[in-house]
Amino acid sequence: SVPLSYFGGLGGASRRGILVKGASFLEALARLHTVVFDKTGTLTRGVFRVTKVVPYNGFREEEVLAAAASAEVYSTHPIAQSIREAYGKEIPLEEVKDFQEIPGHGISAVVEGRRVLAGNDRLLHREGIPHEICNIEEGTGIHVVLDGVYAGYIIISDEIRPDAKEAIFKLKELGVQRIILLTGDQERVARLVAQKLGLDAYFAELLPEGKVKKVEELQAALLNPDKQKIAFVGDGLNDAPVIMRADVGVAMGGLGSDATLQAADVVLMEDAPSKLVTAITIARWTIRIVR
Ligand code: ADP
Ligand code: MG
Repeated sequence: SVPLSYFGGLGGASRRGILVKGASFLEALARLHTVVFDKTGTLTRGVFRVTKVVPYNGFREEEVLAAAASAEVYSTHPIAQSIREAYGKEIPLEEVKDFQEIPGHGISAVVEGRRVLAGNDRLLHREGIPHEICNIEEGTGIHVVLDGVYAGYIIISDEIRPDAKEAIFKLKELGVQRIILLTGDQERVARLVAQKLGLDAYFAELLPEGKVKKVEELQAALLNPDKQKIAFVGDGLNDAPVIMRADVGVAMGGLGSDATLQAADVVLMEDAPSKLVTAITIARWTIRIVR
């Protein structure tokens, strides 16, 4: 039978906007050895702003932005939202056909009869589009291709969440041994975030299944897997597989899809990494009373 104080712990957590789906996850939360964070929307706000549009091959700025915004019309990705916002005009839905979102890559769609690609290097590589190496210093670069011709890139920037640095500091204080960043974003962006937050390691340019593999590798490397648990914290966009794989899969924010909310062992209702610190503190307190 489950000791009564577990219910106290689960209840105390839920009053603080932390849903823990069972006593076993309180145990695991109390024994976290490694915490793996997703970047976009988790450690960062996931609210991108377009800071620059750089056209190529005779295209105009407005044309590049319009094509990307139209291609992104059905995407709920934060990158898509920022591009539509920067464009600022109504997008006629009937002009957008054959919309495809490729996780970790970007978008392919036909806009006013032209094939538009909007995404990262990997998307261009996959589609066999050669492109000049662009000089992106700050932020994430999204390439735009029109009918197979490289049309330029859009630079968008995100911000680290205000409570992230303190949350990382407190996780270390609580004895979490390794704090790791996984992201589908570029190496350069990942390095900057990891440096700013003092993380132990980062792995960039990962596809959703690459994140799963990384978590499996981290699990396999543990000396005492019965006592050392691994949490993955994500915002729930394309995160369901890796949330399922971790010992404690944490979905942050109410934004996640039904699939992720179902896959998660712990749901943090608020968009704040510091809620994980609260969850661990409650878990430790509950376990101590039980013993
Ligand atoms: P993260 O791991 O940081 O949460 P994602 O896996 O959601 O990021 O996306 C990884 C990368 O894939 C993005 O940085 C971007 O380059 C590209 N990408 C994903 N979705 C889109 C989209 N809708 N439009 C353009 N690029 C996208
Ligand atoms: Mg994400």
